[in-house]
Amino acid sequence: MEFDYDLFVIGGGSGGVRAARLTAADGKKVAMAEEFRMGGTCVIRGCVPKKLMVFASHHAHGAHDAKDYGWDITLGDFNWSSFQNKLKAELSRLEAIYTRNAGNSGVEILHQRAEIKDAHTVILADGSEKTAKHILVAVGGTPFVPAGIEGIEHVITSNEVFDLPVLPKRILVVGGGYIACEFACIFNGLGSKVTQFYRSEQILRGFDDEARAHISDEIVKQGIDLQLKTDVAKIEKRDGCLHVTSSKGDTIVVDQVLYATGRKPKTEGLGLENANVTVGRSGEIVVDEYSQTNIPSIFAVGDVTNRVQLTPVAIREAVAFHETVFKGNAMKPDHVNIPSAIFTQPEYGAVGMSEEQAAKEGPIEVYAAAFRPMQNSFIEKDEKVLFKLVVCAKTRKVLGCHIIAPHAGEMIQLAGVAVKMGATKEDFDATVAVHPTMAEEIVLMKEPVRSHGG
Ligand code: NDP
Repeated sequence: MEFDYDLFVIGGGSGGVRAARLTAADGKKVAMAEEFRMGGTCVIRGCVPKKLMVFASHHAHGAHDAKDYGWDITLGDFNWSSFQNKLKAELSRLEAIYTRNAGNSGVEILHQRAEIKDAHTVILADGSEKTAKHILVAVGGTPFVPAGIEGIEHVITSNEVFDLPVLPKRILVVGGGYIACEFACIFNGLGSKVTQFYRSEQILRGFDDEARAHISDEIVKQGIDLQLKTDVAKIEKRDGCLHVTSSKGDTIVVDQVLYATGRKPKTEGLGLENANVTVGRSGEIVVDEYSQTNIPSIFAVGDVTNRVQLTPVAIREAVAFHETVFKGNAMKPDHVNIPSAIFTQPEYGAVGMSEEQAAKEGPIEVYAAAFRPMQNSFIEKDEKVLFKLVVCAKTRKVLGCHIIAPHAGEMIQLAGVAVKMGATKEDFDATVAVHPTMAEEIVLMKEPVRSHGG
């Protein structure tokens, strides 16, 4: 059977673009449909603009520290519109690079929505139909906002946060995951008064308990009003402000409410049912280890599959898809020991298991040190860092590494190599310390602070 394309990719984000470019570079005929802006969540309304806001908000802390170090500095207000203009220009620049690179690789970019008609056909928004030997769905996810709360229509999500016309003087952040914790810190740094509601006992569920408590303490010290076991009961808009009643019955008045209560796969209206593609309970496309759906010609990578919602993982899945389908080299993306960072202030970088997860698997030793690093003790800044290794008592392998510190995201990238290679505690010990750094602690911890099992 003759097809218009060897591959039709739906979604121009990190995963889709990588798969399209690799396949087109092999000389295959590839088209890609993107209904919004090239670059997807990561570039347009996720990792990139968020990180730039993290940098912007860091300068407030930096200026305070500089003053304590002896600089004559007076910190003025943050100019939100000046930052936003630069941000918009930067995102347009990156979008253009994404578009150019895909085009240069030979990908035909269709700037419109595509939906699936059958196992080999997509329908474009202009009504035209295209056929392909393989279809790759890489449409990503979208913020989830719970229904049924009075006034929920007044809230914003991470989709709108970068386009706010003015910097909110007071903001309520709802949620306790990556996005909520990062934006609570960002707005706090930019000078907003931040309240954060999290519905359960402790933020960052699923991460290491000691690290969660450490982050929670640090963000409270910075001035974020973190209210645990608290949810939104109702929101009323009055006099241009939002009056939020909490589940505890208190009312706070804010300028914006940012919901960061998770993301869901963006599969609604995609026509998956037309091709009988199996969709899971959260709307995710169900795929096997090779990112193949139950329909042999249709594959999916990235957030739409709800496996691990991280850009580098989507890219790995795209590479494995390309190897498997177009190179005859069956390749499974590796989802083990994925390092990640939460860009709170200070940052939290983690790879491998938490103490709690590892303790369930067998006997472990825990090495941990929480302390005020030199640059903070000098200015009597009450911010502590945490270095922690979770070690298998039998094999001595480091099963988990947790770092809370300025630039922990950078550090965990490097520690992640050692953990991925299966380094033992003794390998860490055998590495000479880089002095004076705070990271040297990771090779200097001699005695376990706790043991479990065994
Ligand atoms: P997360 O899944 O990390 O967190 C969602 C939070 O919302 C949890 O605290 C959850 O609580 C809470 N929540 C869920 N439903 C409700 C509800 N109905 N009412 C109140 N609270 C609720 O999602 P995020 O939106 O923060 O981020 C999505 C994904 O994006 C992350 O999983 C991550 O993979 C990725 N990401 C990665 C970043 C990075 O690498 N630095 C940065 C940003 C996002 P509970 O714990 O009780 O379920």
